Amino acid sequence: MTIKSFICCDYLPMKLIVILIMIRENGVNDVTIKVLYCGMCHTDLHHVRNDWGITMYPCVPGHEITGLITKVGKDVTKFKVGDKVGVGCLAASCLECEFCKTSQENYCDQIQFTYNGIFWDGSITCGGYSKMMVADQRYVVRVPENLPMDAAAPMLCAGITVYCPMKDSKLLEPSGTPKKVGIIGLGGLGHVAVKFAKAFGHYVTIISTSPSKEKEAKQRLGADDFIESTDPSQMKAKKRTLDFVLDTVSAYHSLGPYLELLKVEGTLHIVGAPDKPMDLPSFPLIFGKRTVKGSMTGGMIETQEMMDMCGKYNISCDIEMVTPDQINDALQRLANNDVRYRFVIDIAGKSSRL
Ligand code: NAP
Ligand code: ZN
Repeated sequence: MTIKSFICCDYLPMKLIVILIMIRENGVNDVTIKVLYCGMCHTDLHHVRNDWGITMYPCVPGHEITGLITKVGKDVTKFKVGDKVGVGCLAASCLECEFCKTSQENYCDQIQFTYNGIFWDGSITCGGYSKMMVADQRYVVRVPENLPMDAAAPMLCAGITVYCPMKDSKLLEPSGTPKKVGIIGLGGLGHVAVKFAKAFGHYVTIISTSPSKEKEAKQRLGADDFIESTDPSQMKAKKRTLDFVLDTVSAYHSLGPYLELLKVEGTLHIVGAPDKPMDLPSFPLIFGKRTVKGSMTGGMIETQEMMDMCGKYNISCDIEMVTPDQINDALQRLANNDVRYRFVIDIAGKSSRL
């Protein structure tokens, strides 16, 4: 084990609480990464607040990481010191099951996540809100040269999480038929989904609780239409108009009104992960022969594929940079739905910025 960092978890007037976090040594298949940037996913907030009842404290969040390799193990073939890389949600998997063998490691039933997982040596995994990390080369990807390391960081979770459902629904094919795509929730995941859908020529409708986002969504992100989901008349006017709807919402909501937006045989794909079960009425399903499905992030081959696609189409995230001492404020703003559209922590600071 190596000393990773001193984390100041609480700063009270008379008392400084310091927690010593340990991470594993760089093994033969591992790389050590100097973390430059880390995106702040809503999943980090769910963990910090223990929304899902699974957080093991002390928890070092962060699974949207970009950085530079500073050390490679003796069996590492994919990378060398100095490479620009990214780490997403996955830290380890069994490598033997049908899902690992087809690089769908995210569906391995022994999957361990980048943070709040239990690594094979029994240590609790620590994420990218940290100056350095050790990762198995299998779960590390290259960041294309033309992408900025800060705005590329959120792609490691937000990007791959929306890439997979869109690819599965054949929405990311260069010569595919343009479709009517709806995105529920214009946050970190949602704004990346808009960029992907627009890059492939689809007609994009944002379905949002925030009317203040409409102008920017159209002008800056190129969205074609905007429905205020809290206005029943707007929802009713757009019934049966969409082929595919991606649900990125982090809080409880009933699925019924959103299902009504789909054409017959349309698909509602859920990636948002509210802490409470959502209401799924049967009538909009059976009257429209509609499908509801879900997915969790993506496998490693697809993660590299997604990064390369972002490089090719020059797609990165719209970010607000914060310094490590602003993390608590940023988490509060994320909880208040007050970010355009992803906070990224400048972990390394100016001195080593690329
Ligand atoms: P985010 O940046 O906070 O965006 C979530 C958006 O949901 C908000 O911007 C807001 O958009 C909308 N929203 C919030 N509260 C709402 C409510 N009560 N009703 C309707 N809409 C509401 O979060 P994120 O980082 O994109 O993550 C979104 C969710 O995906 C989280 O639950 C996260 O844990 C989950 N996630 C899942 C995976 C996976 O593998 N499946 C991966 C990453 C994240 P508007 O203002 O436009 O309404
Ligand atoms: Zn995430």
